[in-house]
Amino acid sequence: MIRVENLVKKYDEFTALENISFKIDRNDVLLILGPNGSGKTTLLRCILGLLRFSGRITLGNIDITKDIKRVKRLIGYVPQSINFPRNMTAREILNLHDKLHEIEINEEELISSFGLGDVVDVPVGEYSGGMRQRLALCVAIAHDPEILIFDEPLANLDFEGRKIFLRLLNELRKREKTILISSHKIVDILLYIDKILMLSEGRQLYFGPLERLVDRLRSMRFYLRLNTSIDRLQLKSGRIITHNNQWLLVETHNIVETIGELIRKHVDIGSIYVEEPSLDELIGYLHGDNDHE
Ligand code: ADP
Ligand code: MG
Repeated sequence: MIRVENLVKKYDEFTALENISFKIDRNDVLLILGPNGSGKTTLLRCILGLLRFSGRITLGNIDITKDIKRVKRLIGYVPQSINFPRNMTAREILNLHDKLHEIEINEEELISSFGLGDVVDVPVGEYSGGMRQRLALCVAIAHDPEILIFDEPLANLDFEGRKIFLRLLNELRKREKTILISSHKIVDILLYIDKILMLSEGRQLYFGPLERLVDRLRSMRFYLRLNTSIDRLQLKSGRIITHNNQWLLVETHNIVETIGELIRKHVDIGSIYVEEPSLDELIGYLHGDNDHE
C-alpha cells in the first residue's frame, strides 16, 4: 500500500507539487497522467525518496524518510531517461545490481526473456534506445520488488519493446505487485489500469478509479470515410461534429448503433477511424467538473 498525504514539493520559489494526497492498495496499478511539466517525475522521485518534500509518504507502514534502505529494496524503478555506463555490458550491469541488492539471479535467463539474449555481452553504448529501455526493465525487476515505478515507459519503447512491456505488466499484475506508471498521453494501457491520478501544473485534478472518466472516454469520436456524399443529416444516436463529401466526424457513445442508423439512412461507409479524446479535452472536462463541486 502506498499512501501520500499533503505532499508539497518546491524548487526554490517554484511549487512543482501542491498538496497531493492519494492512497493505493497493494495490487493496484496506478496511472499518473498529465502533460509535460505537470509534476509526474517529481512525484515519482519523491516516492523513491530521492527528493526532499513536505507532507508524508508511507509504503505499507514504512515512512520513506525514515528507512530509505528498505525503500530501495521495496521498489524497482525505470527512470524517464536511462543512463547506463556506455562501456559496460548488460551482464556486467545486472551483476553489479545483484551485488548491490545482495541477490543472485540468472542474468542470462532474465535478459533473454527481454529479447536481449544475443547482446548480453555487448557494451550498452551500442544499444538502441529501445534496447536500453528493455535492459532498464530487467534491472528494475531483478530483485523482485513489491513496488514497480515506470516513468513514461511507453515514450521510448520500440514496437517489440512495447509488447514486452505489456506482457511484463500483465505478469506483474498477476503477482499482485503495486505498479505506478506515468504518461503524458492517454495510452493504450488503460485496460491494465485500476486507478488514475491526473496532474495539471502540479495540482491534483482527479484521483480515483477509471470509472468516473469512462463516460468521457466512451463518448468517443469517430472519423468515417464515406463512399457517398451526404447533404444534411441528423442522428439520434450521436452528434455530427463536421462533415464534407468524403468524411464524417461523429461523436457517439455507441458506434454500432450510429453505424446502423447511418446505413438505414443510406450512407455508404468505407472505413472507420477512432479519435480518442485528447488529454487537453479530459483536463478541460475535469476542470469543469471541479468547478461544480
Ligand atoms: P513531468 O514529469 O510531469 O513532465 P516534472 O516533474 O519533470 O514534470 O516537472 C514539474 C515541474 O518542476 C516543471 O515545471 C519543471 O520545470 C520543474 N522542475 C523539475 N525539476 C526541477 C529542478 N531540479 N529545479 C527546478 N525546477 C524543476
Ligand atoms: Mg517526467
